[in-house]
Amino acid sequence: MSPPFAGPGFDLFAAPIAGKPLRPHQERAIAMLRGSLGKGLKRVVCQMPTGAGKTRTAAEMVSGALGKGKRVAFTVPAISLVDQTVAAFESEGIGAIGVIQANHARTDGRQPVQVVSVQSLAKRQRPAADLVIVDECHLRFEAVSRWIADAPGTTFVGLSATPWARGLADDWQDLIVPVRTGELIDAGLLSPFRVFAPSHPDMTGVKLNRAGDYDETQSGEVMGGLVADVVTTWLERARGFPTLVFAVNRPHAAQLVQQFADAGVMMGYCDAHVDLIERQFLFARMKRGDLAGIVNIGTLTTGVDADVRCVVLARPTRSEMLFVQMIGRGLRTAPGKQTCTILDHADNHARLGFVTDIHHDRLLSGREKSKATAKERGEPMPKECGSCGTLKPAKVRACPSCGFEPTRQSDIEVEDGELVEIGRGLPLDASPKHDREAKQRFWSMAQHVDAGRGKGGRLAKALYRAKFGVWPAGLDPSPIPPDAGFLAYERSRRIAYAKSQQRRAT
Ligand SMILES: [Zn+2]
Repeated sequence: MSPPFAGPGFDLFAAPIAGKPLRPHQERAIAMLRGSLGKGLKRVVCQMPTGAGKTRTAAEMVSGALGKGKRVAFTVPAISLVDQTVAAFESEGIGAIGVIQANHARTDGRQPVQVVSVQSLAKRQRPAADLVIVDECHLRFEAVSRWIADAPGTTFVGLSATPWARGLADDWQDLIVPVRTGELIDAGLLSPFRVFAPSHPDMTGVKLNRAGDYDETQSGEVMGGLVADVVTTWLERARGFPTLVFAVNRPHAAQLVQQFADAGVMMGYCDAHVDLIERQFLFARMKRGDLAGIVNIGTLTTGVDADVRCVVLARPTRSEMLFVQMIGRGLRTAPGKQTCTILDHADNHARLGFVTDIHHDRLLSGREKSKATAKERGEPMPKECGSCGTLKPAKVRACPSCGFEPTRQSDIEVEDGELVEIGRGLPLDASPKHDREAKQRFWSMAQHVDAGRGKGGRLAKALYRAKFGVWPAGLDPSPIPPDAGFLAYERSRRIAYAKSQQRRAT
């Protein structure tokens, strides 16, 4: 073991501070950071998952630097976060704070700690600082990159729950991972979660955008075919749980809000145009029970401090960062909360695995190619329990939720490259061997019935999925009149649905 302070880096953390004791993983974060800086590195990213106590840990870094007579800048990703950051530091016992922002009451350049938004940083002079802490550094702010380039002697510490963006290695030299989400769950600091994957949208042919994620318009169209399924599943699995629904885009979110309203469930709506005050109001309404939940478009991935007990993933993504951030919103612990129910309608788990399995031990440079998903890399993926429908870890036979151990017949089989669920209340003929012709015939009859009832394709899709366990893909939509077998099947589904509605009503 080399001594921790060997090398040219100065010791930022010499002074012990009063206040709440650090948790073991927070101690570890400080020790690992000290070790990295001790090797002479100047720009270190510290991965702190949601729930790890990022503010407490950052306050420890700040206090340590102040104790050595150093000046500290803390950058936040949005002007709206300046005040809450100041308040958070003050509650950790750090008072000598100035703010860099036009006309802000806390403007005071003499204070040794300066809080600055990246927007202000882009426009105004940088505060003099020996240590710069960059919050949410995975967002790769240009103003920060320029600062890093201009100040090779300054120490920068990046904080992020998901420091996996391409290009981070171009600015930063080291990644430390003092704790992982699974450990925080085991320690009771985060809520356990349970995943259901009720839908399997067909994403074949959906283009990828420049960031390597699904094109929004196209995935919005695919997911638009599943709104009824989202609502039905929520009623069955999560009614009464304060819920965040992640939608693809505005039209898709509007469809979801409407579909919930049609089922008598009031959901709020949030996008980038909804300001902080309105957001707080939405959360207050959810807390009171006036809203069952909030449908949002990518806006509620950070800074949500509410009691959320269900997360609905109606947004397909290939981004581990977005995926982890969405799920993270449901992992806060709360009195009486046993678990967070995750309804993944977007096959994100089938693509990326469980959030607790996502791990990277180094930063990515900008030259590295877009990453393949865990599934594309051929890693073993979670499987659905044939009895209760919970997703269980790869290679685990007995279901952790219900104890059910599958026989081969009731396990998930792979057909046409898609997960096919079997068991769980599906009709008897949902065996994995349906030939193409039978599927086409069923689909054409479903089209006929759907058109006759003016369902706009939703009924046909729902029937097809109920029958075969997958969404229709690559079939000819020409209708043919239904035969007696089809009509009997359709009728049985309607009766099952009505019964499930009755059960809910009583
Ligand atoms: Zn089970």
